[in-house]
Amino acid sequence: MERQIYLDNSATTRVDDRVVELMKKAFLSDYGNPSSMHVMGINSNAYAEKAGRQLAASLGCEPKNFIYTSCGTESDNLAIIGGALANSRTGKHIITTAVEHPAVTESVKRLTEYGFETSYLSVDESGVIDLDELKSALRPDTCLVSIMAVNNETGAVMPISDAGRLIKENNKKTLFHVDAVQGFGHLALRPASMNIDLLSISGHKIHGPKGVGALYIAKGVKVKSLMVGGGQQENLRSGTLNIPGIAGLGLAAELATKDIEGKRKKLFALKSRLARGVAGLGDIHINGPEINEGAPHILNVSFAGVRAEVLLHALEEKGIFVSSGSACAAHHPGVSAALKAMGLPDKYLTSAIRFSMSEWTTEEEIDYTVSSLGELLPILRRFR
Ligand code: PLP
Repeated sequence: MERQIYLDNSATTRVDDRVVELMKKAFLSDYGNPSSMHVMGINSNAYAEKAGRQLAASLGCEPKNFIYTSCGTESDNLAIIGGALANSRTGKHIITTAVEHPAVTESVKRLTEYGFETSYLSVDESGVIDLDELKSALRPDTCLVSIMAVNNETGAVMPISDAGRLIKENNKKTLFHVDAVQGFGHLALRPASMNIDLLSISGHKIHGPKGVGALYIAKGVKVKSLMVGGGQQENLRSGTLNIPGIAGLGLAAELATKDIEGKRKKLFALKSRLARGVAGLGDIHINGPEINEGAPHILNVSFAGVRAEVLLHALEEKGIFVSSGSACAAHHPGVSAALKAMGLPDKYLTSAIRFSMSEWTTEEEIDYTVSSLGELLPILRRFR
């Protein structure tokens, strides 16, 4: 294969060289167990403390607000299952949206086995929830609300700040969880001023390593641990800390939130260029909000008359890597629940491709992608 154009950054990202260097040091030199009492333990623990400070700076909170996990999925599980179980005195009603990642929907489903009841918020044709619907769904016994910051398939940005305000106006005891796995580094997130109690992030979506995530827990919020053992992380998540991963996550978070505005500008320009390019390619449909209202890095486009998987592999032949539906709902070809919830007709449901960029994506790569689509589509549409 001659070239590699990676437009699947919402599935995962290339790790930043600086992150790899730091992790190498933690793997090869400072490899003590952070719980050990000797100097090697102390040196190793210093990486976790630094990562805490970096994460805190990236969200404008205190370093002690974080629990390290193995991925975004585990952060979502801990926030929702652990949060709801610890807060069930408030009630056993949960609210979430119809377009969450399975890490959230499956956590909510697990709670139904323990007598919890769930309301799912619908989305409009651009994939965004309606605040009036949230307002009417809130009840005195709502113990937890979970709403994603950015949808992983369409890039729809949810009104997190307004949702947080409504939730707390209804009942201060209701916990607000935000899955920020796709939003972190692309939106300025400030949990305290947004009334967020719990917020999930994942290392591998922000040029950090796979196998590490974090859960922000606001001061005073109780969460029941799901992993028991040696009592690490104040008994909330036992298990020896993954110091290289945590160090990598901390640095990646610092880098990801360094110049959010500058990065957004660059990504929006690339996204607009791609949207303009695909506009001339026959019966297409952009799935999601207006270009500037969505996340800067995700563009979901349906190319009617071609099955998404067929187009995905044809693009792969040209060295272009994209997703059909959600790659994180691994190897489940089929219709996307999020796109279905937006009410798309069948011809667009089966032909949706997600392009997701990073700050390393170039204009030339976008132009090559558009011209490749221009070559492939007339041929593939003939064999519909
Ligand atoms: N939440 C969202 C919105 C995601 O996009 C993903 C992964 O794509 C996850 C959660 C799960 O994160 P991880 O792959 O780190 O488990």
